[in-house]
Parts: sequence; C-alpha cells; structure tokens
Amino acid sequence: MISPGARRRQRAQRLLTAAAVGAAVAVGAQGGTQPDWKAVEPEALRHFQAVVRFDSTAKERPLAEYVKKVLDDNGVPAQILFSDPDRPNVLARLKGSGRKRPLLIMGHTDTVTVDRSKWHFPPFSATLDGGYIYGRGTIDDKDNLTAGLLTMILLKRLNVPLDRDVVFLAEAGEEGASRIGAGYMVNEHFPEIEAEYCLAEGGDIVRENGAAKYAEVETVEKFPNGIELVAHGIAGHGSIPLKSNAIAHLGAAVGRIGEWRPDIKLNETTATYFRKLATLAPPDQARYYRDVVSPDPKVARAADDWLYENEPRHSSMLRTSVSPNIIQGGYRSNVIPSEAKATLDVRMVPDENRETFLEQVKKIVNDPAIDVRYTGNGQTGGERIIPAVARLDSEVFKTVEASVTKVYNVPTLPSMSTGATDMQRLRSKGVQCVGIGAAIDVEDQARGFGMHSDQERLLESELYRFVRLNWEIVTSLAARK
Ligand SMILES: [Zn+2]
Repeated sequence: MISPGARRRQRAQRLLTAAAVGAAVAVGAQGGTQPDWKAVEPEALRHFQAVVRFDSTAKERPLAEYVKKVLDDNGVPAQILFSDPDRPNVLARLKGSGRKRPLLIMGHTDTVTVDRSKWHFPPFSATLDGGYIYGRGTIDDKDNLTAGLLTMILLKRLNVPLDRDVVFLAEAGEEGASRIGAGYMVNEHFPEIEAEYCLAEGGDIVRENGAAKYAEVETVEKFPNGIELVAHGIAGHGSIPLKSNAIAHLGAAVGRIGEWRPDIKLNETTATYFRKLATLAPPDQARYYRDVVSPDPKVARAADDWLYENEPRHSSMLRTSVSPNIIQGGYRSNVIPSEAKATLDVRMVPDENRETFLEQVKKIVNDPAIDVRYTGNGQTGGERIIPAVARLDSEVFKTVEASVTKVYNVPTLPSMSTGATDMQRLRSKGVQCVGIGAAIDVEDQARGFGMHSDQERLLESELYRFVRLNWEIVTSLAARK
C-alpha cells in the first residue's frame, strides 16, 4: 500500500517533471539554443536514479528497454540490436544536414558485480545522501549513459539544427563481454555507428578538497596482449630433485620478469600529460613529472623509480607494462611435474611492436626450457591494429578542452588509459574517440568509492555539471555553425 506521504511526493515529482519539460524548451537568454539548466536538473536526476536502480550486471535488457522508451517518448526513434537477446544494445540517431560526418556518443549499460554486504546503501537504490548519489555504475558508466541520453532528448526538444548526425549508442557488455556490445555493433552494424568522432567513458574531472582541479581526457589506450611462459622439464619422483624441474625454472623466470621494467616509451599524449601535470602539482611531486619526460635516460629512470613505488599508474603510463598474474603447475607434493605455466598481463603502448617485444621477453626469460608466446586472448585477438588516436590538435580534442574550460574553468590533460574500453573497437575502425567523465573526488578512491570498488557514488551537483559538459561538447561539434 502506498502512504499518503508517498502519494504527495509522487504528485510533487510529477508536477516538477512537467515543469521541467515545459521550461527546458525555453531558448537561452544569450540568444543561442541553450537548455534551462535549472529545469533540466530534476529530469537528469530522475533518469539517473532510474538507470542506477536497474541491476544491469550482465543482464541489460530491462535497462535497455527503459533507455529506448525514454528516447521514443521524447521523439528520438531508437532501435534495439543484439546478438544475445538478454543483453541488447540501444541505438538512436538525430539527423543532421550531412555537411560533416557523424558524431557518436556512447555509454555502457552494464556494470561490474557487487558484494551487497559491503554496501551501506543498497547498490541499486540510487540513494541520495549528503549530496551524493550511491549505487553501482554511478561513475562507471551510468554517468555517461545519462548525460548522452539527456543530450539526445534536449537536442530533439530544442530542435537544434545539426551539421552532422548525432548517434547515440547505449552498449551492453563493456565489462568483459564487449563481443555482444561494441564488438557486435562494430562487426555487424558498423555503417549505423560509423562516425568521425566518438565520446565515451575513460576520462574524468579530478576534484580535490572539494574543487575541480583539472580534466583528464582519454585520447589513447594501451592494448592488452597476454603472454604465457611454459616451462618444460622431466617428470619424476619428488624424493629425487632434478635440475630440469619445470617449477624451479619457471619461478626463476617469473622473478626476472617481475624485476624488469621495459624502456620508457612516451607518445604525444603521455608526454603532454606529464608536462602539464608538473605545472599543477605541488613542487615536491612536480619534479618527478618533469624529470620523467627528460631526454636524459638517467634522469627519467630515477623519476620512474619514484613513480613505480609511489604512483604505479603513472609508471605504467610510461611503457608497455608486464605483470605476472597467474601461475600454474604441479598437482602432488611428491611428483615433479613436467610442465608449469605463468601468464603475464601485458599492456602495450600503441606504437609497440608485438614481435620485437616478444623477443625482448624471451631475452629476459633467457631459458631454452621455457616457451614464450602470446596467449591470443588479447582484446585485439592477436592481429595488429593501427588505432585512430585523437590527436591533441584535432577538432575533437580542442572542442573538449574548450568545453571543459567553459563548464569547469580548469585545464585539460590528455591521458592514456592503462586499461581498455570499448573505444578500442571504434578506434581500430578509424573513429577518433575521446574519453570523458564526471568530476570525482580523488579522496574517494582510498575511501572505497572508486570505479569497481566495494561502493560507488557520484556527487549530485557533478551529475548536472557533467550533463552540461556533454551538451557543450556535442553542440560545439555538431550544431549548425
Ligand atoms: Zn566502464
């Protein structure tokens, strides 16, 4: 049964929503077509809470249907496309004049799993408390999903004339099953999502002590390319130790790999990132960021030693990284096994050469009893892909930078993600993608509220700013000039 209080609240909510829809069509005071942001906020909150309340952990259909309905109800015809009916994608398009090539906006509907016992507020409650909205997916990736959704319906409602089509893709399966999401769309429906530029997750606005400090905008990602070491030896009785013991050989090789840090390899994005970060950081930290881009390898290496110990993500951004993460071998304490295997998580910088790199690993392993080979499980499926990096002098990067300045008044740093997102699929087809995200407190990671953490949250005020950022970027790139 519904209580009178709840009914009153529902009525108030309905009135508020009606007011929001009416007010949002107003033309901005500046003369340009601008939404009335105060009126848009309750609508943004309503959709954001609604999408967070779907438990879309590897079962995206109900959320996909919600997204489609919102688009349809707002006059933006949307399609459901899938290879797995329980895990569909939503696609919508607003037509432009065709003067420029399309812009694609992406947001993934799935989330990583939750351990409910770790959550103070239930993970799919979207509880608003102390200015934060709590829930799985609030910063990965239902912020991008909601901002993209709002941008589409506002473009339609305000009837913004477009120079290029704006395509919206709410894709399933980003968290470990992109073959049914972005992979499926790229393989089976590429003409419908083909674009000059795309916006997706992968960046954020770094907020510290309650203030936005700078934006990290992802322009490039590393490529996962797993390598395995398989040691072969003679099997035998455990009571008679053998020099050829596969586990002993493998252990020594893994030890050498663990000690090894491949050479520093900077690119336009990472060199700019560290240079700019040096201008924003306190002097004692800034020195390491400056030194690490030094042409003197000794200076760079010393700074890298500090980063490896204190800021491992930054150390990984400098190079192709190698981390031994699985080790398998043996089955009885009294049997010397004939084989043992280690799996290395290798994340390559975009201009790494696979063959040359494998030779380097073989040199470090330096043991003829150990086979060194690619697992073939990398995101790239083993083939060499030349990704379309969003260059820093490109229209898309410059537009994001200008929009960040306008909405947050902070500098923009280009960044290279050490992990992989769905953008990789698009970039491999020549689409220049940039990764953006809402403002997140740097302090939140240590408090256990980061992406994929035990809990997750987003500031309500930052949801609204992010919707504005999205609008700003999309209209700057696509609205008729
Ligand atoms: Zn994500």
